[in-house]
Amino acid sequence: MRNPLRWILGAGLLASAGLLPAWTATGDRLDLSQRDFRLFDNFTQATLHGNLTPHPNWPGSTDVELAAWKAGAEWGSLPMGLGDGDPSQDQVGSGDANFDFLWNGNAAGIGSANDNIISAIPGSSGGVLWFTELPSSDGWRMRVYEDLAAWDDGPGDPVPGALDFQGVLTHELGHVLGLGHSSVPGATMSSVIAGTGVAARSIEADDQIGLQSIYGLRSRTLKPRIDGLSGWTVPGATVTIVGANFSPAGNEIWFNNALADGGAAGGEPFVLSGIASPGGSEIVFTMPPGGAEDGAVHVRNSLSGDVSLSEAHPFRAGSIVDTVRLSGPESVSAGAVVALGIANAPPSAPFRVLASARGSGSILQGHPFDVGLPVHNLGGGRADSTGAGGFTSPPVPPRLAGRTIYLELAAASGGQLFDSNLVATTVL
Ligand SMILES: [Zn+2]
Repeated sequence: MRNPLRWILGAGLLASAGLLPAWTATGDRLDLSQRDFRLFDNFTQATLHGNLTPHPNWPGSTDVELAAWKAGAEWGSLPMGLGDGDPSQDQVGSGDANFDFLWNGNAAGIGSANDNIISAIPGSSGGVLWFTELPSSDGWRMRVYEDLAAWDDGPGDPVPGALDFQGVLTHELGHVLGLGHSSVPGATMSSVIAGTGVAARSIEADDQIGLQSIYGLRSRTLKPRIDGLSGWTVPGATVTIVGANFSPAGNEIWFNNALADGGAAGGEPFVLSGIASPGGSEIVFTMPPGGAEDGAVHVRNSLSGDVSLSEAHPFRAGSIVDTVRLSGPESVSAGAVVALGIANAPPSAPFRVLASARGSGSILQGHPFDVGLPVHNLGGGRADSTGAGGFTSPPVPPRLAGRTIYLELAAASGGQLFDSNLVATTVL
């Protein structure tokens, strides 16, 4: 069965006006074997490849892939990472149900009708812009008639005349997970969506209630939850996942599969299994030599069914896990100061800001950092009780004009060091 999308621009009258407005369900539902989805990037429009700026909350994906990932993540049970990276909404990850999609990156082909792959299709079919092959319970596929409309990958508003890929995909993924159309104006699952579709990126209360009626309200006591990662994600190194509701034994860690085939195999997560968590709030594992790629990580505990899989958490393979978020300007004038913003540090932790002319990595006090040697200590401060803060550097020496300086934050808490992402600033 094909579920066609015929886009209606502008506001319209709802056919069911007068009835109680509400979500509807189709009877489809996705068990844990069908939560994965991928994108085959045979899209040719430049406006679907316009966003080439990586965002630290979404490792490894930009442009149309990032738009697709965020569309699925919005249905997720908890905010994806810090929930940021989408200017149209406060947080991405609003479902609060026992449901999470598994973004698995790129596919190398369109796949079969049950391989959960999104791709473009040439030609046209009677004004249909996009179709989703259902039922979804045994797998699904989406095809986009790219020639019929202009599409934009965001993250800002679409260019004039284009439709928002992420917003439309959020709606279509709602069908995949089992929702029909809603008669609530403004709901993501409304059959009439106004404007470019950007507003559909963010699900509304009616969409949430529909999702929760299929999969249940997110269990606070049974469903695993990931609060953070620390360590170094290179092969053989030790990584710690901190969270809740892990099982004493038999946990699994689900990674984005590095296999990018055109069929079902690459849609399966790369899984580490048989992992213990004696206290239920911490998982320690050794990074495997390969198989996982940048994207997200999930924990599955030893329970069964929807409740056993955690939300997605950002994961960058083969690098240092950046615990603290550091933000700064792309450029600074020689002789001026650099103002840095700090988030996600351990509460009230003292910190230092490190600077280097290189971003080639170093080990300081046994902890891996992104800054290269030699490292200069610019001074420090203390994060507030929410882990946020700021730092103003000394004036940048004029002799550094024309060069790039690399800045990283080191925070200490409970005898452990935590590092941030690297900020690269060009000195003008
Ligand atoms: Zn629809």
